[in-house]
Amino acid sequence: MSFIETRGNDGVKANEVSFSEAILSPSASFGGLYVPKDLPDLGKDFIQNHIDKSYKELAFDILKAFKIDIEDSEIKKALDLYDNFDDKNNPSPVVKVKDDLYVNEQYHGPTRAFKDMALQPFGSILSSLAQKKNENYLILAATSGDTGPAALSTFRNKKNIQVVCLYPDGGTSDVQRLQMVCDKGENLKVLGIEGNFDDAQNALKSLLSSNSFKQELEKENIKLSAANSVNFGRIIFQIIYHFWSYLELIRQNAIKNGEKIYLVVPSGNFGNVLGAYYAQKMGLNVEKLLVASNENNILTEWINTGIYDIRDKNLKLTKSPAMDILKSSNIERVIYDLFGVKRTKELMEDLNSKNIFTMSQDETKELQKYFSATFSNDSFGNQTIKDFLDNGYLMDPHTATCIKAYKELRDKDLITVIYSTAEWTKFSPTVLNALNQNSIKYVDKEALEEISTKFNAILPNSIKKLFNSEVIHDLVIKKDNIEKNIISFIRKS
Ligand SMILES: *Cc1c(COP(=O)(O)O)cnc(C)c1O
Repeated sequence: MSFIETRGNDGVKANEVSFSEAILSPSASFGGLYVPKDLPDLGKDFIQNHIDKSYKELAFDILKAFKIDIEDSEIKKALDLYDNFDDKNNPSPVVKVKDDLYVNEQYHGPTRAFKDMALQPFGSILSSLAQKKNENYLILAATSGDTGPAALSTFRNKKNIQVVCLYPDGGTSDVQRLQMVCDKGENLKVLGIEGNFDDAQNALKSLLSSNSFKQELEKENIKLSAANSVNFGRIIFQIIYHFWSYLELIRQNAIKNGEKIYLVVPSGNFGNVLGAYYAQKMGLNVEKLLVASNENNILTEWINTGIYDIRDKNLKLTKSPAMDILKSSNIERVIYDLFGVKRTKELMEDLNSKNIFTMSQDETKELQKYFSATFSNDSFGNQTIKDFLDNGYLMDPHTATCIKAYKELRDKDLITVIYSTAEWTKFSPTVLNALNQNSIKYVDKEALEEISTKFNAILPNSIKKLFNSEVIHDLVIKKDNIEKNIISFIRKS
């Protein structure tokens, strides 16, 4: 299947590209993104035929339906990485918490956040493509905390790939920072930046579009790629687990095949819920996709009004930092799918030049056929974490935002799946503040210990051992020195 560009073609790039081309060089004409030319139709028996299938078999069949230009053996090798999750037969377990409420726990991979669900297999496929083409790639990642560890983990010691990961010094949790700075991979470089996440992200964007930087890389025979969710190679793996949710509900006798369900997704860059949207378009029986946000509620505004307006908005730092975002990249793919290339280019250019775009009423209604949205603040999150643990279920602050949507947005009495995107261990000080109903400044180590002893929560070894690990990457640099540091890392390796 071929891939095309959301903002049309500039006459320089190819009109259509293969899956492997779209993931190796993910930037499309006019700043757009790659999308599949058509979405596969899985046929009406797909669910029935997969009730007895494993996660890996389900994933294989969905990837094959996209007719991607990756050999079966490479696909299988990538999917085998799910064997390293807590339960190799069930990488994202679906757990019942109330009669009509289930949680798809997406954090059972090596770095304890949902990013592993896609980045683990994606890293394997990207590196094997690079080897096959005999090309070397530099992957740049800027992270507020979850993408960094997951990207490092998947590319660690992979051939033909180097990774440079920028994080805001002081802006991540201790666990997230240690996951990055203790990583021993030979092909990895982690740089702390004096500044916030926006500074790291802006530095990355300017490098990605800098010709002189690209020329420096070319001298070393290196191309640039990206591992964030603008890369369709991540999105494709984020379609699968929504089908898994549905299959698990059938297996657990919560629904019968054919019944509709609600899916609630805590959203930032809109990649996770985009996967759900594609799943619905491919035949999954979804009543509505419920988008949960924190106080950075730009997605709520967009879905409720059709207007995306960031003119007077400043990013707020919340207790669900992975959802702190103003410009959400993947809404572009939904706009493309609903309204086509010409309209996408118009709206996205408005957003770039005026910091606002406005959809028509008809367009807004069309969007609302698929999505409803709401947001919550940190105190709602704290109360929710406490209430749920009082009933025996421990969740992280990102997952807690889903409960607002579950309570507010459902018009029908249907089974609902919320997505749990991080384990409590990644945000333990916030979780302990919620459980103890205080605002003491805990450090991660102390909060992890208290929660695991007092509330009998399992502390995975991978987290425990971080506090005794050697710090490999101790460099914290000024924004102006990022390029210099990257070039010297590349020359050395
Ligand atoms: C990345 C992330 C999100 C947001 O996912 P998007 O696909 O960017 O919408 C939510 N929660 C956690 C914990 C994350 O790491």
